[in-house]
Amino acid sequence: DAKANAPGSARFYVQRLGEQVRRRQIMERDLRDAIDQGQLSLAFQPKIDLSSWRVTGFEALMRWRHPEHGNIPPGEFIPIAEDCGLIPSLGEWALNEACRCATRWPAELTLAVNLSPVQLMAQNIVGLVQAALTSSGLQAQRLELEITESVFIQENRTTVRQLRALHDLGVRIALDDFGTGYSSLAYLRRFPFDTLKIDRAFVRELLVSRDARAIVRNIVALAKSLRMTTVAEGVEEPAQVLVLDGEGCDQIQGFLAARPMPAEDIRAFLRNWREQRPDVPTGFQPGV
Ligand code: C2E
Ligand code: MG
Ligand code: MG
Ligand code: MG
Repeated sequence: DAKANAPGSARFYVQRLGEQVRRRQIMERDLRDAIDQGQLSLAFQPKIDLSSWRVTGFEALMRWRHPEHGNIPPGEFIPIAEDCGLIPSLGEWALNEACRCATRWPAELTLAVNLSPVQLMAQNIVGLVQAALTSSGLQAQRLELEITESVFIQENRTTVRQLRALHDLGVRIALDDFGTGYSSLAYLRRFPFDTLKIDRAFVRELLVSRDARAIVRNIVALAKSLRMTTVAEGVEEPAQVLVLDGEGCDQIQGFLAARPMPAEDIRAFLRNWREQRPDVPTGFQPGV
């Protein structure tokens, strides 16, 4: 009966749900072997300093190319990895691979690696970071670890202790996706973040919403008074750069400067950026 299977019918939704459950089972099964099968890779996206329009460093973002299903976005497979206990090995792989790549870049460039809250709870992350730095030879000062606010949802002593120990290694800590998650500011006092990344949601609304602009202005002011560097995520339009610079934001990241790229492309990207300073928005004078 066609009607019983039509979109909106109960059977339609049950079928869709069944497909999603099946896809998830497949993902979970195949993710276990993804590292060994060489299906994982890293893409790197630059961060740009607004006072000089120079590249300050790159964030490493995990990519999974499934042999049958193609590219699976990290927004889909990271939560699965967190649920089924695979995030520690995925995270360890990403950390080592990213550090290894970064040692081939000019020494002034930083590397940012995302950490899952689960890694801070379940892993001796301090030992892993130390090992990754030692085996790659990357200086601790060049490494920044990005974590989201969700790390503080359950107040956890292990988490805060590990963050402090990481900080003591000389590694910098960034608060990722700021403003979207857990809405308490108390943890900004409990832990000394070095960097605050303003979530893409605010940047997206920046040119059309006075409220979004007011929020960005106040996030920047808050960060400045706590001596944190601010990075605006998801910058796609030149006009957003002008507003962000006007509000005192330090750095930008987003498709305007570059999409995440494979490690092999970084050298050419940097040369091109240095020689042509591409995409300086009209009317924007860095450092003025
Ligand atoms: P994130 O750490 O906030 O990374 C930024 C995400 O925004 C990336 O998505 C990036 O490709 C995307 N992005 C950057 N600029 C723009 C822009 O101008 N417009 C739009 N629309 N998007 C932009 P991606 O690579 O899909 O990663 C999604 C999330 O997955 C990351 O968000 C991070 O939370 C997580 N993730 C990625 N790699 C790792 C990893 O190695 N470990 C962990 N634990 N999480 C990771
Ligand atoms: Mg991040
Ligand atoms: Mg983010
Ligand atoms: Mg995000």
